[in-house]
Amino acid sequence: MSAPKPIQIVGGGLAGLTLGIALRRRQIPATIYEAGNYPRHRVCGEFISGRGQSSLARLGLSELIENAGSICANSAAFFTASQSGRAHTLPVSAICLSRYKLDSALCNEFKRLGGELVSGQRWREDNFAEGFVRAGGRRVQVEQGSERWFGLKIQARNVTLAADLEMHLSRQGYVGICRLNDGEVNVCGLFRRRLGENAPADSRELLRGEPGSPLRERLADAKFDDASFCAVAGLSLKPQRALARPEVCVGDAITMIPPVTGNGMSMAFESAELAVAPLAAWSRGAISWNEARTEIASACDEQFFRRLRWARALQQLMFTSSLHAPMLWLADHSDLFWRLAFERTR
Ligand SMILES: Cc1cc2nc3c(=O)[nH]c(=O)nc-3n(C[C@H](O)[C@H](O)[C@H](O)COP(=O)(O)OP(=O)(O)OC[C@H]3O[C@@H](n4cnc5c(N)ncnc54)[C@H](O)[C@@H]3O)c2cc1C
Repeated sequence: MSAPKPIQIVGGGLAGLTLGIALRRRQIPATIYEAGNYPRHRVCGEFISGRGQSSLARLGLSELIENAGSICANSAAFFTASQSGRAHTLPVSAICLSRYKLDSALCNEFKRLGGELVSGQRWREDNFAEGFVRAGGRRVQVEQGSERWFGLKIQARNVTLAADLEMHLSRQGYVGICRLNDGEVNVCGLFRRRLGENAPADSRELLRGEPGSPLRERLADAKFDDASFCAVAGLSLKPQRALARPEVCVGDAITMIPPVTGNGMSMAFESAELAVAPLAAWSRGAISWNEARTEIASACDEQFFRRLRWARALQQLMFTSSLHAPMLWLADHSDLFWRLAFERTR
């Protein structure tokens, strides 16, 4: 029998690393090209929710995640700029873990399994030949409409939360705060800037909330970890189909789900899991590259497309400030609202 053909993965985020680990477990040679280095902070709510948790279990990664310091999140509460909601039990528990620890733990596991990591170098080729997988994360938004989305995140201590996840809505966007281990919290926000609007002089102020808001009060005594601050712009939140891509893609490289769902990391794990068997079959010469690509893309589209549509609707609600008060009322009074918003977006 001939040796398995190698797989090259461009992007060592969650999707690329998970795929790399799963391929190495099947004895497939795998190389990851990563522009950055580990460990590193990422703009992320650090709240893992959805079917990706089962993918992690099936891929044998639950223990690694636990050992990296993950904690369970069982409750969430909504806040507007002027009102506080009450804590609700989540229909299904989520996991919270710092990306600094998560990406690094996955990277170490990939290397332990004999994967080759080429870090600190950006892959410049845009043509992806056979054997190459695109796992480079979100595509930068091309000029589109009048809105620009950007994300910010910082970790902090000395913050007492009313729930494992707090979602604070404001006119410019929303900020999610979740509990991490070791007494830390992650503060992460998604914001919208309309074309022609000036960028805020100090973007970090957006994470602290408007004066008088429950968010401002919550973070009043926070001790921020300046080294963890990061920002990302050019986000495209328009759903895309995997089948429309000419290459094999996993994770955000397919499409980005609105972060409010806390489901993007889950989609990275799920898409990596869906890609493993077809890529292994190609590597062993059982199917063509195009067959592998079509199989992976069809499976991802089938699994993701409905949730992407619901997530988009939820995102629009979150960014319509006239609906914040009715939303908070619904969140506080209707279990059906919680269940629907939760189940349909993951
Ligand atoms: C504001 C915000 C909040 C979020 N909150 C959450 C949340 O709470 N829960 C959740 O589940 N998801 C959340 N997400 C989404 C989540 O972060 C992503 O869905 C997830 O990181 C996708 O993983 P990925 O591996 O596809 O991409 P990434 O994690 O972005 O990794 C891609 C990697 O590829 C590398 N790369 C890119 N191009 C190249 C190249 N040319 N050569 C080499 N390397 C390259 C990058 O350096 C990067 O390390 C949030 C996103 C934002 C913006």
